[in-house]
Amino acid sequence: MQEKKFIAMLGGGQLGLMFTESAHKMGEKVIVLDPDKDCPAGKIADRFLNTDYLNTNSLNTLIENCDVCTTEFENIPYKTLEILEKKIKVYPNSNALKISQNRILEKNFMQNLKIPTTNFYIINSENDLSEIKNINDWPYIIKTSTFGYDGKGQAVVNNFKELNKAYKNLKSDSFILEKKVNLKMEVSQVACCYPDGIVLLPISENTHINNILHKSKVPAEISINSEEEIHKITTTITKSLNYIGILCVEFFISKSGDIMVNEIAPRTHNSGHYSIEGCSESQFDHQVRILKNLEPKKSSLLKPSVMVNLLGDLWSNKELEKNLIDSDGVFYHLYNKNIPKNGRKMGHFTVINDSLNMANKIADDIFLKLKDEK
Ligand code: ADP
Ligand code: MG
Repeated sequence: MQEKKFIAMLGGGQLGLMFTESAHKMGEKVIVLDPDKDCPAGKIADRFLNTDYLNTNSLNTLIENCDVCTTEFENIPYKTLEILEKKIKVYPNSNALKISQNRILEKNFMQNLKIPTTNFYIINSENDLSEIKNINDWPYIIKTSTFGYDGKGQAVVNNFKELNKAYKNLKSDSFILEKKVNLKMEVSQVACCYPDGIVLLPISENTHINNILHKSKVPAEISINSEEEIHKITTTITKSLNYIGILCVEFFISKSGDIMVNEIAPRTHNSGHYSIEGCSESQFDHQVRILKNLEPKKSSLLKPSVMVNLLGDLWSNKELEKNLIDSDGVFYHLYNKNIPKNGRKMGHFTVINDSLNMANKIADDIFLKLKDEK
């Protein structure tokens, strides 16, 4: 039998790119599968399979050349994972992927574990809609049950009329209707689940602009009790999914202090990018270590860190002014994407500093300058 010398990565976006960079640093080779011929990770992969995710030849190539497979994208058909699982190790497992792909399965999963979420209704038909016309604690947020990301596939609704309109506009077979939370803060927890032990990264505090992550500050300024609660919930989720791989749990903390799970992502996460420079081991290093069955390593925070996303909006027909970012303690990453569309994640930068306040100020100043320059 030929030696299986590659790691399989399903998806070639920026998370796949940064994973491949970590893998290369550790002397590993990666085969990336992605239908987009221009995808970022395809450009640095050791082999790039440019087909759809169910292509039999591609899946056979992965099985022949890899003994382990991972993903960076939750909308891979879970059938792909089911097929691969029969032959090679697949982290995350197909069941975890299936649950995180569908907001209805995800909410039911949390409910079964008695993990708090927002109040919600499931909408599968117009009939379900009419049954909830007595809601009197608007506003709510309607979300398509599948294929939502970066705030796409959702709308805030302030009354029943707006709900009906959004239901028609969003065009999906099924939805979750969620109470809009009066947010004090959003935080996320990246969990690195090794076959024999879990490593939790420092919790990050996230701000969004237009429902897209804008900034992550680490460590999150939350109480020890909240931190313990978040650790407990995350561990319950990973155990119950028999999870191996990287999992991110997004949390809401309401103005009244309630901690709720917003959603889970069965992969590395944008809010964990700070860990590349901010931690002794990044989320991508952990992903490689888990796949190679290496020992769990702690990820201590080296210094307070602030990460800011660079969206296509900052380009507007010209190159980004990189000299505005260049400075001591500031690290930037560009993802090799060709077309800087509005809302598209083109890169990010991370500021690390002995003081979180100072890191935050430097990050805000750089972002404002980049915006003014556009
Ligand atoms: P996506 O898959 O696009 O990340 P999310 O459900 O995480 O979808 O929503 C994106 C962002 O929209 C959240 O991070 C939060 O800022 C806001 N949001 C979503 N749902 C709610 C809610 N129920 N209450 C308050 N804000 C919300
Ligand atoms: Mg989200």
